[in-house]
Amino acid sequence: MLEHDVIIVGGGLAGCRAAVEIARTNPSLNVAVVAKTHPIRSHSVAAQGGMAASLKNVDAEDSWKAHAFDTVKGSDYLADQDAVAILTQEAADVVIDLEHMGVLFSRLPDGRIAQRAFGGHSHNRTCYAADKTGHAILHELVNNLRRNGVKVYQEWYVMRLILEDGVAKGVVMFRIQDGHIEVVRAKAVMFATGGYGRVYNTTSNDYASAGDGLAMTAQAGLPLEDMEFVQFHPTGLPVGVLISEAVRGEGAYLINSEGERFMSQYAPSRMELAPRDITSRAIAYEIRAGRGVNLDGSAGGGFVYLDLRHMGKEKIMSRVPFCWEEAHRLVGVDAVTQPMPVRPTIHYCMGGIPVNTDCQVRSSADGVIEAFFSAGETSCVSVHGANRLGSNSLLECVVYGRRAGASIARYVENRKLPTINEQKYINEAKQEIQALIDQPGKLRINQVRQGFQDAMTEYCGVFRTAELMEQGLQKAQEYQQQYSQIYLDDKGKDWNTELVEALELRSLMLVGQVILNSAFKRKESRGAHFREDYSQRDDSNFLQHTFAYYSPAGIDIQYVPVNVGMFEPLERKY
Ligand SMILES: Cc1cc2nc3c(=O)[nH]c(=O)nc-3n(C[C@H](O)[C@H](O)[C@H](O)COP(=O)(O)OP(=O)(O)OC[C@H]3O[C@@H](n4cnc5c(N)ncnc54)[C@H](O)[C@@H]3O)c2cc1C
Repeated sequence: MLEHDVIIVGGGLAGCRAAVEIARTNPSLNVAVVAKTHPIRSHSVAAQGGMAASLKNVDAEDSWKAHAFDTVKGSDYLADQDAVAILTQEAADVVIDLEHMGVLFSRLPDGRIAQRAFGGHSHNRTCYAADKTGHAILHELVNNLRRNGVKVYQEWYVMRLILEDGVAKGVVMFRIQDGHIEVVRAKAVMFATGGYGRVYNTTSNDYASAGDGLAMTAQAGLPLEDMEFVQFHPTGLPVGVLISEAVRGEGAYLINSEGERFMSQYAPSRMELAPRDITSRAIAYEIRAGRGVNLDGSAGGGFVYLDLRHMGKEKIMSRVPFCWEEAHRLVGVDAVTQPMPVRPTIHYCMGGIPVNTDCQVRSSADGVIEAFFSAGETSCVSVHGANRLGSNSLLECVVYGRRAGASIARYVENRKLPTINEQKYINEAKQEIQALIDQPGKLRINQVRQGFQDAMTEYCGVFRTAELMEQGLQKAQEYQQQYSQIYLDDKGKDWNTELVEALELRSLMLVGQVILNSAFKRKESRGAHFREDYSQRDDSNFLQHTFAYYSPAGIDIQYVPVNVGMFEPLERKY
């Protein structure tokens, strides 16, 4: 059995930042990070636009309170305001700290860190490294893992959380290279496993974003919070790949088939820089009304145009060069002279594993699980509520990754390693894998996954109704039953990526069902959750967080109060 003081699952921004903090706080602790990818291939590396912090380098009027207000308003008042205050107060400090670690942020002519406009933010406060911000930050954090002696298990797949009597004791994982299974025991376990974009058929997320950490947590009997809030990013290319909001932050327009900047109808004061839920719905309405465009440029299609032409070549190439390159490479559009076809794409998971502001996992409104921590996209401390503002996620990963690290370092100080029946867990893992490999089914993994993803997109997308979601729940059940009929061609142990895909399919189907159930029960519209049959926000009944408890027999939904402190809920207008 492997042993570490702390085991962190996830090598993205949140996991790496936590590991560095633990090692810095107490260098004698033995810390390990596990990732099913190489850490620098975690989805964080793809983050483009930037990270918000009220540094006041461009806009002297900015303040953490203004940032907090924008975040709470953006969240449609569902964010926990104590968590938002921490996020926005610590923001400037974590940016400076990253810079001291070696992250090269883009600069103003006088040498200070540059800051750009972003959707829903009332001041220019997004710090960036051109349009490769995640790349710049993650590379330095991974360098710092090595510098601080953190053990990295790369390309190991974690398949189970070991939770006994309300205490997290470790994980079960296998090395993808040769199928070797190990049990790890630790004084504290942290999940930083990222999002679940692959629950849907079109996503900006990478292949690894299958919701594994969420599924393992739910399978251990713990709740998932606010899973109905799924962010659609307004501007995905036809293949789903993201064109960063930074492009609109730098001045690009959204236009329909009639050449109209239609955002004037939906958010006259913020236009293209309205929050993502509002902008994505606006695009969907335009497309529905027949004012979309087709890929050949004719009217009536499923896209609208993102138009950069007026920005000029020099600005495009210096501020958003990667976005230009993506559109050129993937759809053959030269954004200097042509508009790009875009449509909303699944991007971010506002909900997740419920945690308190010390990143301890919550079991209920007032209970916590011993020795289990979480941060980053997979967690829900609720700073994003019903809708996340762009550039607040990298910030959350770093602020709450650092807080998780500090609180874990304190937590394990006087703790002993837990006892685990290693053989029992090894046997169960072997049986589970063998059963999948031996399964005499007729269906390909891809068939079932595609069907499930299509159903989630059709029945639980931008616009929702009880009727649609009832059909979705039915379909989801049918696909779940098909899981026992999938077969694997690869019966071997070495690099069995088919096995990994089968386990990921299990995760994304579980997560999808939690999303559907949570969405079905929330009979109001708030942030990204828009119901045509309940089109108003309903604070008297639903100014509450959803806690969904999964069991194979069904999903139980409970509600937990929101922390409202600084800002009273108001109607949200832009
Ligand atoms: C294209 C794109 C652009 C974005 N741009 C921005 C932006 O400009 N600003 C912003 O604030 N946010 C942005 N976001 C959102 C932000 O990047 C993410 O929310 C954030 O990086 C998530 O970091 P994380 O550490 O939580 O998880 P990730 O970076 O997703 O890392 C998850 C880790 O968990 C590991 N893992 C998962 N499951 C398992 C398992 N079963 N076993 C072992 N390891 C596992 C993975 O290998 C990986 O190492 C963007 C997102 C995308 C997709």
